[in-house]
Amino acid sequence: PAALELVALSKRYGATTAVDAIDLRIAAGTYCCLLGPSGCGKSSTLRMIAGHEAASEGDIILGNQNVTDLPPARRGTAMMFQSYALFPHLTVIDNVAFALKMRGVDKATRRRRASELLDLVAMTPYAGRLPTQLSGGQQQRVALARALITEPQILLLDEPLSALDPFLRIKMRAELKRLQRELGITFIHVTHGQEEAMALADLVVLMNGGRIEQMGSPREVFNRP
Ligand code: ADP
Ligand code: ADP
Repeated sequence: PAALELVALSKRYGATTAVDAIDLRIAAGTYCCLLGPSGCGKSSTLRMIAGHEAASEGDIILGNQNVTDLPPARRGTAMMFQSYALFPHLTVIDNVAFALKMRGVDKATRRRRASELLDLVAMTPYAGRLPTQLSGGQQQRVALARALITEPQILLLDEPLSALDPFLRIKMRAELKRLQRELGITFIHVTHGQEEAMALADLVVLMNGGRIEQMGSPREVFNRP
């Protein structure tokens, strides 16, 4: 079954066509990397799927529901940002529970769910700390838990590893892959790193000038043995 289908999806900013009538189908449980040069439309595509940006034309279908006109919280998607997107004045556990608070979930349930997610990313001992008291990799794991707490069918990741040093980047890559396998959900991960896509992706979608230039397995797209 397709987890995500984009049908003739376009985004224009004034005279600029950022995304130019793209068609894409992604099967459930796929780790998809969206790759391409700066300005090719990756982030615009991600923001339209998340609902943070309206589509200019076309449709976004998640599962079997057309979500093109739904608000972000009702799409079954979640977005993971770089670590600095954590709320600096909230503790780790409150950061993780944030989306549930916004949704009016009671405190006991929020605590329980947030604890489960902290456990999943091995951050339970840090529940009471503030983000500034964590390393970059730890902040990243908290950001991941925060995104996963709404139980999204699709997790959208916008260059999630680019703020990390090379060592942590490799380590977090493995964590992302493990979690994606464990949870069985669809990941759509924007990156401009070919190595990163090579290590993570089941499916590579290569964009250029607002269009999909190529897609396939990393081997097919990068033409490697
Ligand atoms: P990428 O993520 O691949 O770097 P973007 O989706 O951010 O690409 O941008 C695609 C194109 O749309 C670029 O030409 C960019 O300058 C333009 N663009 C992106 N966001 C905006 C915006 N809010 N207003 C005007 N132009 C934008
Ligand atoms: P959603 O998942 O519904 O988009 P988020 O909790 O991810 O909501 O918030 C979206 C963005 O708004 C975050 O990346 C964050 O930078 C900013 N933001 C929202 N509320 C606050 C806050 N209280 N303090 C700092 N930043 C905030």
